[in-house]
Amino acid sequence: MDDLRIGFGEDAHRLAPGRPLTLGGVVVPGAERGAIAHSDGDALLHAVADALLSAWALGDIGQHFPDTDAAHAGLDSRAIVARARTLIAERAPDARLAQVSAVVTLDRPKLGPHRSTVAATLAGLLDLPVDRVGLTFKTSEGLAPDHVQARATVLWRAPVG
Ligand SMILES: [Zn+2]
Repeated sequence: MDDLRIGFGEDAHRLAPGRPLTLGGVVVPGAERGAIAHSDGDALLHAVADALLSAWALGDIGQHFPDTDAAHAGLDSRAIVARARTLIAERAPDARLAQVSAVVTLDRPKLGPHRSTVAATLAGLLDLPVDRVGLTFKTSEGLAPDHVQARATVLWRAPVG
C-alpha cells in the first residue's frame, strides 16, 4: 500500500485590459483582459503549485517566490511549478504525482473551447497522462466579473517506508 497525500491550492487575480490571460501555461486566445500580477498571473498554475507543495507541507509559493523579489517580476509560472516539483523531489524522491483536479472560475471568455489545449499543456508540465488532469470551468455568474480564480487538488503516491 502506498502512502497517499492530497494537496489543495487556490489563487486569484484581478483582470485588466491590455494583458495576456495565461492559464495552465496557455495564453487564452481572444481574452480581452489578463491578470494583474507580479508574475505572468497564471492563476491555474499558482493553485496547482500551492496544491503540490501543500501535500508535502512545504509551505506555499508566496514563501518560495516572494512578490517583493524583483527577480520574480514577469516570471513564467511554469518555472514556479518546476521549482515546486524540485522541492518535493528533494523531500520525497520516490513520490509520484497521480492526479490533478482543478476548477477555474472566469466569466469571459468561455474556456470550454480551450479545455483540451489547457489539459494537454498541464499534463505535459506535470508528466501526467491527460486523463489524470481534470478541468472544470465555471463562471462566477457575474459575482466576480473582474477576477480569475482557480482551485486545485492533487494526489500523490509514495511507497511506505
Ligand atoms: Zn497567482
